[in-house]
Amino acid sequence: MALIVQKFGGTSVGSTERIKNVAKRVARWQAQGHQVIVVPSAMAGETNRLIALAKEISPSPDPRELDVIASTGEQVTIGLLAMAMHAQGVKAKSFTGSQVTVLTDSTFTKARILRIDEERIRKALAEGNVVVVAGFQGADAHGNITTLGRGGSDTSAVALAAALKADECQIYTDVDGVYTTDPRVVPEARKLDTITFEEMLEMASLGSKVLQIRSVEFAGKYKVKLRVLSSFEDEGDGTLITVEEKSTMEQPVISGIAFNRDEAKLTMLGVPDRPGIAYQILGPIADANIDVDMIIQNIGRDETTDFSFTVHRGDYNKALAILESVRTKIGARDLTGDTTTCKVSAVGVGMRSHPGVASKMFGALAKEGINLQMISTSEIKISVVIEEKYLELAVRVLHKVFGLEKPQKAKLSLTGRDETDIITPS
Ligand code: ASP
Ligand code: MG
Repeated sequence: MALIVQKFGGTSVGSTERIKNVAKRVARWQAQGHQVIVVPSAMAGETNRLIALAKEISPSPDPRELDVIASTGEQVTIGLLAMAMHAQGVKAKSFTGSQVTVLTDSTFTKARILRIDEERIRKALAEGNVVVVAGFQGADAHGNITTLGRGGSDTSAVALAAALKADECQIYTDVDGVYTTDPRVVPEARKLDTITFEEMLEMASLGSKVLQIRSVEFAGKYKVKLRVLSSFEDEGDGTLITVEEKSTMEQPVISGIAFNRDEAKLTMLGVPDRPGIAYQILGPIADANIDVDMIIQNIGRDETTDFSFTVHRGDYNKALAILESVRTKIGARDLTGDTTTCKVSAVGVGMRSHPGVASKMFGALAKEGINLQMISTSEIKISVVIEEKYLELAVRVLHKVFGLEKPQKAKLSLTGRDETDIITPS
């Protein structure tokens, strides 16, 4: 007998029909003798609807009240799911975050989990119940309702699995696992059987569509066995997110090609080359809460340097305005920017033991005439900034050159779902 936490995303509980199917699926696990804790999201679109309602009253809603509102979506699904379990003849009991208690700090709308009380859950499990716990929500030390940030029910599930030392945390979603790249860009993309936590974090641009990144950090920290599975297919083991690396023999050098379309580049030219200059440029950017991704500084001519960095495209105009005032202050020659850039990354823990990955990557891109505007590396990732129009080409070429393709044609799993895809019980 195992203790399993199963999280179902908004699409998987998007209608009462789908909730009934989830109940049937959970009932089968319980019938096999397992103890099950189910963590559902709100029904698809519901959290957006609730937040929109709040914004009709106030364009910048009070965060405490916003959490009171936004958390209700999950309260509906836990009740519905518990009832659907009853209809299957299975004992089930639902709990909100504050009933459990899922104790969080008081950072409304993006609270962090501090502790989870096991008592009520353990008792309900011992009484033979499937325990249904609302995702995304908790309560602070004063009993205020909090939420964990968008996509937060993944983190709820992982935190419950960690607190109760569950044997596995299964995340059921509308994709059947983590892919070598986005199948919409490369139809030959392959589902990975396993991926390490580190790789998953580095592949944020791919991974975050599947899992809230914070939940991955959490699972890595508490060594929770985490698996991503399709809620619409009965077969398949999904993707297991692992702590250990496979032995070097079977470890592919590159596990995936990630990309990010929303990158914008800013360059300050002819910057005086003196200590403190990077701080003078990036300080005001940080103060404005703008995230900086890649940074490059080059020694230019005449004892000046050129300084480039990238930001999210949505922050570009704000960053440009800030830099214009910085430029006059520090006496830099010129300021340029580019919003037609993107970032492509090759990710893999196998890189550690295989030299030459960068040159292979750059060679493949050069062959296609793709100019590399910026390069940055970490131990397990190499990223390049290129012109956006080459994004698809670059991803395809790299996917191929690192041998990530499947021999036969992989089916598309990110698109083309419809109601008929919902599982029926066996
Ligand atoms: N319902 C919340 C959201 O839409 C939490 C979640 O789905 O994970 O962000
Ligand atoms: Mg989600």
